[in-house]
Amino acid sequence: MVTAGSWFTVCASCRTIRDKDGSWHELSQPLGTHEEALVTHTVCPRCALRLYPEFYAKLVRRYPEVFQIEH
Ligand SMILES: [Zn+2]
Repeated sequence: MVTAGSWFTVCASCRTIRDKDGSWHELSQPLGTHEEALVTHTVCPRCALRLYPEFYAKLVRRYPEVFQIEH
């Protein structure tokens, strides 16, 4: 789902974008079709926690750099 090669990912639920630095941003403009083809659709930490509370714990263990929510 999350690969080292993806340069950014988009939350499939709220459309928040994760950039290559690993931080999540609100998507201010819709992506063009070319950009859509490049993104890896996933869910951001907040949506993962909200939508899949049981699955979220596994995601954090497997991809802590992606899904760990900073406090
Ligand atoms: Zn989201």
